[in-house]
Amino acid sequence: MSDPQYDVAIVGAGFSGLYLLHRCRQMGMNARIWEAGSGVGGTWYWNRYPGARCDIESMQYSYQFDDALQQEWEWTERYSPQPEILRYAEHVAERFALLDGIDFERRVQQAVYSKPDACWHLTAESGQKISARYCVMATGCLSAPNWPPLKGYDDFHGNVYHTALWPHEGVDFSGKRVAVIGTGSSGIQTIPMIAQAASELTVFQRTPNYSVPAHNQPMDAQYSAAVKADYRGMRERAKQRIGGIEGEYNTASAMEVSDEDRTAEYERRWQQGGLLFLQSYSDILTNKTSNDTMVEFVHDKIRSIVTAPEVADLLCPPNIIGGKRMCVDTNYYATFNRANVSLVDIRTTPIDCINRQGLSVGSDQYDVDIIVVATGFDAMTGALNRIDIRGKSGTSLKDHWKDGPSSYLGLAMHDFPNLFTVTGPGSPSVLTNMLPTLEQHVEWITDCIAYLRNSNYTVIEASREAQDQWWDHTQEVAKQGIKQTTNSWYLGANIEGKAKVFMPYLGGFPAYLKKCEEVVANGYQGFVTR
Ligand code: NAP
Repeated sequence: MSDPQYDVAIVGAGFSGLYLLHRCRQMGMNARIWEAGSGVGGTWYWNRYPGARCDIESMQYSYQFDDALQQEWEWTERYSPQPEILRYAEHVAERFALLDGIDFERRVQQAVYSKPDACWHLTAESGQKISARYCVMATGCLSAPNWPPLKGYDDFHGNVYHTALWPHEGVDFSGKRVAVIGTGSSGIQTIPMIAQAASELTVFQRTPNYSVPAHNQPMDAQYSAAVKADYRGMRERAKQRIGGIEGEYNTASAMEVSDEDRTAEYERRWQQGGLLFLQSYSDILTNKTSNDTMVEFVHDKIRSIVTAPEVADLLCPPNIIGGKRMCVDTNYYATFNRANVSLVDIRTTPIDCINRQGLSVGSDQYDVDIIVVATGFDAMTGALNRIDIRGKSGTSLKDHWKDGPSSYLGLAMHDFPNLFTVTGPGSPSVLTNMLPTLEQHVEWITDCIAYLRNSNYTVIEASREAQDQWWDHTQEVAKQGIKQTTNSWYLGANIEGKAKVFMPYLGGFPAYLKKCEEVVANGYQGFVTR
């Protein structure tokens, strides 16, 4: 067995990769990050579109592994804008002296496990190679951009920008006619900003989405001080919540209160703003009748904000609320009252093609100068499948997953020894506050590697049986609510030809944490070590 160059190869320098490198070094391991971008920050490096901001509150969307860091860092707004989160990632990289452990502009093309030396061999698109005993894919859940399969991109006279690949120098919309395709979280954040800058904005909407106001505001100094005085307590309480977010969760059913009380509760929470609107009652995502009451409330809100009734109708989503990921906005619905904004329904008549002057939809032509594509991601599996990952049998991960992914805890896969994924399919990940979730994965993975070293094991692999059991459980839990009744990226339904399988673990962060702890307590139950 020859020695690899590194103990751990890490793919990606987002929040997972940075903490992985720091923790590996703390534990005396020799680790290296390969990162496709030219800087750290992952999601927050790539998604620089106007209006990009986190829709989890700043005091919670932050690392907790280092108390001095969480005490010293000052967030300036209730919801942090992208540039501030990127500065935070850069600060973390500098504070913990991580930059010399990262190779930038090194996109991994292939990762191959070699059985004879029990190592991973990574090759970059640019040809460089690296070997490591363990490989950790810290590649993110929402990082493989999805381009709409439209004809004519090259024919267009202007520029086309994807929100997830935004140019660093920004885009000047002044005096321009702009098209935005897509009305998910990214579109809903950027549309109000582009509307203010452009001469004309045309929004092409396939499916309307539910959005709750952010009511963003400058950080309240008293609130920040109160959180910091009990940061550890708040983080612990958050871990007991299904989504890993501390806040107000109602344990009552929407059906056990009067219509007046229910409407008053929705109104109170609408005025507070944010994702916890969905927690107004405990059964919004399990009882269709309860869900209907919230749908009706939000439809009424949309109709009260948008002055043109036919536009308001188009903006009212027909499906259940919370089936797709909820959006949080600033002035989204009101933007459609502006004289320079129009909405085009591409559900009934899809976009035919992009042409020299703009977009062709049925018999209508829309002449524009700039096209913004806000069509999301090949979620959860996309970033992994875009790398040629080959395990001990030589079969690629993509082939293993052609009928849908399967993973043990979203952490490891059978046939892929010594490979770990951060927030992979089968973990709560995208259904939770990603920062605490990824910290838990990083700690689990690095503790596991330390265990292997201390026990003189070289190889660890998820057993097929444990993987199958966990995956069956993941699918069983997904059937319990009404979330999977809506076509969404959770199910892979946004990508043509992708297997429709509910990918994240819907059982909640506390149940998942408990399972991960049990696996360790039982000597890495479900894993085979050699
Ligand atoms: P998304 O939620 O998948 O939305 C994509 C939008 O593009 C949808 O309206 C979709 O319509 C439309 N679309 C996709 N393909 C299309 C096509 N071929 N033709 C026309 N329309 C098409 O993507 P996203 O907005 O980038 O958000 C993805 C996730 O990233 C979010 O759900 C959230 O988890 C995360 N995110 C978070 C934040 C935040 O923290 N503030 C911000 C941005 C994103 P259909 O619905 O009909 O498919």
